[in-house]
Amino acid sequence: MRHYGLIGRHLSHSFSANFFRVKFQNERIDADYTLIEIEDIATIRDVVIERELSGFNVTIPYKESIIPYLDELSEEAKAVGAVNCVVVRGGRLVGYNTDITGIEASLEWMDVDMNARALILGTGGAAKAVQYVLSKYNLAYSTVSRDKERGDYTYEGLDADSVARHTLIINATPVGMSPNKEDAPILPYDAIGAEHKVFDLIYNPATTELLRLTKERGAATMNGILMLQTQAIASWHIWQRAYEEFKEENIC
Ligand code: NAP
Repeated sequence: MRHYGLIGRHLSHSFSANFFRVKFQNERIDADYTLIEIEDIATIRDVVIERELSGFNVTIPYKESIIPYLDELSEEAKAVGAVNCVVVRGGRLVGYNTDITGIEASLEWMDVDMNARALILGTGGAAKAVQYVLSKYNLAYSTVSRDKERGDYTYEGLDADSVARHTLIINATPVGMSPNKEDAPILPYDAIGAEHKVFDLIYNPATTELLRLTKERGAATMNGILMLQTQAIASWHIWQRAYEEFKEENIC
């Protein structure tokens, strides 16, 4: 039996655990997926050995801090500086970023205008993955941070004209995430109209206050559920490919 899991600190709710348990059951794959809470990412190699992991996902707060403990990074994970999927190959830990695949799928689904200028809210790991994808597609973007040193705008400095010029708005902050469902990023909402597309990476709730407020003003909206599903499927493809390669090399 192959063992997979999710590494994080507080993991009471996990889409991935349900997703993989249902997948393994339905497709009769001899594997399990467990939630693994660790207090210190420096213990990751011991955890991998102890639990005989073939691969795992990584979530908050370890997506960046795990990097020094990995043997190799995919080009994308290196460029973004964050890892959410690791494959164990002959004792070596190789890090990938499948959030990128999820973001690409979501932007494709939204049929984003390649001439649009994007406004990315937040400057954390998910925001960096969004920046990577937008750069790959040559889409211009500006960033918004609470700290004026980190972003092109602060929320206080974001006026109606700037929001009107940025017709793709991407929320990569946790603002509005359950249980704080009534919160929304501070924006001049009246500058938003039918020409806007708004992508909120949050998946719980499905309709955040940001999506409700912008949809009400005519914007096309998208939540983080497709991204979540796509990154899980992409993780599975990476693990399965490694497993097939291992079988080919070791079983005659
Ligand atoms: P993070 O690193 O904890 O936070 C992202 C950024 O949000 C921070 O760097 C910060 O930027 C800003 N921020 C944090 N608290 C804020 C607040 N109270 N007000 C305004 N800005 C705040 O999180 P992350 O890993 O990048 O994830 C961001 C969001 O994306 C989360 O909601 C997460 O659930 C979601 N996500 C979804 C998926 C998916 O598959 N759908 C995958 C990954 C992440 P500044 O300090 O520069 O303001």
